[in-house]
Amino acid sequence: MSTPETQPAANFIRHIIAKDLAENKHQGRVATRFPPEPNGYLHIGHAKSICLNFGLALENQGTCNLRFDDTNPEKESIEYMESIERDVSWIGFTWHELRHASDYFEQLYDFAVDLIKQGKAYVDSSTPEQIREYRGTLTKPGIPSPDRERSIEENLDLFTRMRNGDFADGQYVLRAKIDMASSNMNMRDPTIYRIRRVHHHRTGDKWCIYPMYDYTHCISDALEAITHSICTLEFEDHRPLYDWVLDQIEVPCHPQQIEFARLQLEYTIVSKRKLNQLVTEKHVHGWDDPRMPTIAGLRRAGVTPAAIRDFCERIGVTKKDSWIEMAVLENSIREDLNEHSARVMAVLDPLRVVIENYPDDQVEQLEVGNHPQRPELGTRKIPFSKVLLIEQEDFAETPPPKYKRLTTGEEVRLRGAYVIRCNEVIKDADGKIIELRCSYDPDTLGKNPEGRKVKGVIHWVSETHSLPAEVRLYDRLFCRPNPDMEANFLDALNPNSLQILSQSRVEASLKDAPVESRYQFERMGYFCVDKDSSPDQLVFNRTVTLRDTWDS
Ligand code: ATP
Ligand code: MG
Repeated sequence: MSTPETQPAANFIRHIIAKDLAENKHQGRVATRFPPEPNGYLHIGHAKSICLNFGLALENQGTCNLRFDDTNPEKESIEYMESIERDVSWIGFTWHELRHASDYFEQLYDFAVDLIKQGKAYVDSSTPEQIREYRGTLTKPGIPSPDRERSIEENLDLFTRMRNGDFADGQYVLRAKIDMASSNMNMRDPTIYRIRRVHHHRTGDKWCIYPMYDYTHCISDALEAITHSICTLEFEDHRPLYDWVLDQIEVPCHPQQIEFARLQLEYTIVSKRKLNQLVTEKHVHGWDDPRMPTIAGLRRAGVTPAAIRDFCERIGVTKKDSWIEMAVLENSIREDLNEHSARVMAVLDPLRVVIENYPDDQVEQLEVGNHPQRPELGTRKIPFSKVLLIEQEDFAETPPPKYKRLTTGEEVRLRGAYVIRCNEVIKDADGKIIELRCSYDPDTLGKNPEGRKVKGVIHWVSETHSLPAEVRLYDRLFCRPNPDMEANFLDALNPNSLQILSQSRVEASLKDAPVESRYQFERMGYFCVDKDSSPDQLVFNRTVTLRDTWDS
């Protein structure tokens, strides 16, 4: 377990920014952005980038924009945009401005015309196959396209007509004219515009040409006067292109691109494409399935925004790829829930207990604390009556050694209530245990019994006072640590990632528990009210188990 941090830990990006501020590099400004493509829901990997970009802005009295990088209309949608806004806000950040790359389509077009006029871009009629072939390889320089020396006039005319819709999809592309022999493949005349007749969720059918990512991204950053453009390592090789584009045109500032290692988390997947596949092929019940590493899934599982921020701070920021253990995320989740969630009692798999020496119609309201370490969270009353329910697994007819729960002839304490002894086991015709006949010691409420030690404590609810609930026990979605590295990641899916218990009973205080409220079910784990919950049928999701101990 890492030590609690009061100060944000140093990392190389914080160093760069501190140095830039000291040198007054960007007029003392810090402006970052989080630039998702709205082609899926955000996942825990994005959370790392969100915490980094928004966090750096906050720490330095700077600004952070949320920018939709929406240049691929065929895969993008309003639903995804809305989910991204919701998730960023939920994680706890407020953007300075909400922008879209599509806000800049007109300017991007003008800059492209400008490049053509400078002789730095040309319209190419080569097919994608030819472009690939002419580009060469890492060991072989590229060769120029026959269209590379087309005149500026002709390029301007063709590009205008590309925009006007005079050509078929794919008939021409606009390419930057850089260096076909560059050792960096990204510099071998990259395509910057393509013809694509697709409806765009924001610009409708206004455009039939769309700018490419590398061209769009740097200009969008510059137009927003971003100072530090933070991205993941795979863009390191694209940085020369980022800088080249901005060096050719008149823009308000030249942001500096800084790359960091993306989050790779064991036992899950952080690729929108594969997460999309899990959803569309119905391996999970939607993007917000509690097993998904999406922000929406984590939220539905009961994870708090604070736990996500804590996790992102703990894993740090480096330039080296590495895998983070799932336990690191689970520990952040547990620590936060342990501190903040109220304790309640719920019996997931009930077994009936009849207290034979308890008066038939008596009900006592026993006062129990809501949090063992935080008395300020108060107490509540829970009803104790003649017929109770305990967990099936808390009784064993033939107990293993050192068993500290209930067994025939022995005593156990009911949490917050009395010590009971099991006198008799009732079974059905098949030999299944259906009821325990017990007796209670009335002199054990809030105090130890005289002259004997009772070690075990188990949880319980009153049969008539408790409420029915469905409890969904979620587990890791994959049963092997690196599903991404398997030939087919679906082979690593955990077949037991969801177990539904429909006979559970929870204490009556949960009657009006709102959706997303979080609890520790004593001895059973952390649970959260699901959106499927209704007053007649409460539904709880298991967020995470407690540590591996029987006794709490
Ligand atoms: P995916 O492969 O899941 O689609 P992406 O990088 O294509 O991821 P974007 O929507 O382009 O997704 O990402 C928005 C921002 O989030 C980018 O700056 C990207 O670098 C960052 N990001 C995405 N995945 C991770 C990750 N696993 N760790 C850290 N940052 C990430
Ligand atoms: Mg992407």
